[in-house]
Amino acid sequence: MVTTGVFFSKIFKGKDWPIIGDKFRNFPEVLKNVLELPNVQLYESPPVDEELLRKVHDSELLEQTKNAWYYEGALRAVGGCVRAAEMVWRGELRNALVFTVAAGHHAGPSSAWGGTYLSSLGPTVRYLREKYGVRKFTILDTDSHHGDGDRAMFMGDKDVLHVCFCSSNAVEDDGTKVDVDVGWKTTDDKYLKLIEEEFVPRVRRFQPQMVFHFLGHDTCEGDYGDRGLSPSFFIELVKVVKRCSEEVCEGRYVILTGGGSRIDVAEYIFPKIVELLAMDD
Ligand SMILES: [Zn+2]
Ligand SMILES: [Zn+2]
Repeated sequence: MVTTGVFFSKIFKGKDWPIIGDKFRNFPEVLKNVLELPNVQLYESPPVDEELLRKVHDSELLEQTKNAWYYEGALRAVGGCVRAAEMVWRGELRNALVFTVAAGHHAGPSSAWGGTYLSSLGPTVRYLREKYGVRKFTILDTDSHHGDGDRAMFMGDKDVLHVCFCSSNAVEDDGTKVDVDVGWKTTDDKYLKLIEEEFVPRVRRFQPQMVFHFLGHDTCEGDYGDRGLSPSFFIELVKVVKRCSEEVCEGRYVILTGGGSRIDVAEYIFPKIVELLAMDD
C-alpha cells in the first residue's frame, strides 16, 4: 500500500515560534483520526545534516542562525522536508505533509527573515539531485507573501519552476520564475481560477519530477496576511494541486506548512489535507 507521510516533531509544540506562534500546540493530537487511516504514517522529523546546509547557505548566515533559540526547530523542519521528499522519490511514500517552524520561503543563500531562518527547499533539491540525480522540480507558493528566499535560491536554475502567488505579476528566468498578483482582497473562486489558469498549464508544460507546495494559510480571513479566503479554500486548493501532480509526476507532491497564525484554521485544514492526500482518486 502506498502511504501518505506526515512529518512532525514534538519540539514544534509549546513554543512561541517567530510569526506563527504556538499554532501546533494541539498537534499531532488533532490528527488522531486521520493518523488511524491504514495508509497514513506519522514520522518524527529528523534534524537536517548541517553539511547539507553549508552547501546552500553562506557561512555568516549559518553562524547567526546557530545561536538563535529556534535553531533546533528550523533544523528539524528542514530535515523533515528532506526526508519526506526522499521517501516520496524512492516510492516509499506517495505524498507527504511536512510541518515546519522557523524555516521556509524567506530564507535565501545569504539572507533570511520573516519567521523563516533556514531554507527548506534549497537543501532538499540539492540532496535529491546529488543522491538520486533528480533534476526538475516545481515549487508552488501560496503563502500570502512573496517567496523571496526561494526565488533567490533558485534564480538561474531553469530546472526549478517557481510559481509564487503574491502581490505582483512577473515572468522571468525564461519563464521558470513566475509571480501572480492575487489582489489584496480576493475570493476562494477567483484564487482557484488563477491556480487553474496560471499554475496548472505551466506545470503541464514543465513536466517536473516532483511538486513542492509552500502552503501558508496566512491568506485566510482574520489572519496576518488576510486576503479574504475562507478556511475551506485550502482544501479545494490541495485537491487541484494533487490532481495536477498525479497527472504530471505520478502524484509526487510534498506540502510544507507555511505562514499563518490562526490556530483554529491550522487545526481545521491539516487533518482534512492529510485525509485528502491519502484518498485514492
Ligand atoms: Zn506569509
Ligand atoms: Zn511572489
